[in-house]
Amino acid sequence: MKTIRFDIISIFPGMFESPFRESLLNKAQERGIVEIRTHDLRDYTLDKHGRVDDAPFGGGVGMVMNIEPIDRALEAVKKDRPKAYSILLSPGGYRFDQKKAWELSGKDEIILVCGRYEGVDERVSELVDEELSIGDYVLNGGEVPAMVIVETVARLVPGVVGDEQSLAEESFASEMLEYPQYTRPRDYKGFQVPDVLMSGDHKKIEEWKRQAALRKTAKHRPDLYRNIQTGGSE
Ligand code: SAM
Repeated sequence: MKTIRFDIISIFPGMFESPFRESLLNKAQERGIVEIRTHDLRDYTLDKHGRVDDAPFGGGVGMVMNIEPIDRALEAVKKDRPKAYSILLSPGGYRFDQKKAWELSGKDEIILVCGRYEGVDERVSELVDEELSIGDYVLNGGEVPAMVIVETVARLVPGVVGDEQSLAEESFASEMLEYPQYTRPRDYKGFQVPDVLMSGDHKKIEEWKRQAALRKTAKHRPDLYRNIQTGGSE
């Protein structure tokens, strides 16, 4: 059975308790498919007051996380898992997407380093395999981005999501968004479900789903739509 382990380094390890104790991720941990460990960065600082940050060289606002506690925490985790793939969460990193999630789901061990304050000393990027951003916006810390990556990657590991066919059909599985879905009631305050879905004609339904997915992609994600039109050459 394929398993995956995540080690998360953060100054707020408590933030991960509740999100990882619910739903499919909790079940996957109970079944031993997914293992998640958190590490308090303050356990690795040599500063007697537990500090992990300092003022930036050259001036500037806010504080920057020191390299030393991060290096020591990474070394401690890597002692038992020398082959673990390490990632620094950073708005300046490469953009995380579904393709990257599939790639990471093939790894056995992943370390996620969460920044805070104004970010981390740039030299930390030399200590990790990759820097990833979850999107073009800035959060207060790397904890929520780490949760996003754990959940997105873990659900691609066989056995985590009950029906794996749903992974093949969902948004981004084929460079476009998923087709619109409906359930009861057929008429809600005048909002109707498309007749074709009740026709029982599977060929027609499949064609409708394909066209509806294309229309939705063109409307919400013209960037993806252009890529489909040009066969990915843009
Ligand atoms: N001064 C930094 C900048 O302008 O790029 C932003 C630092 S942010 C307030 C603090 C930490 O939150 C970062 O070190 C990173 O770990 C995390 N973070 C914030 N936004 C993120 C994003 N979009 N993707 C990944 N991590 C993010």
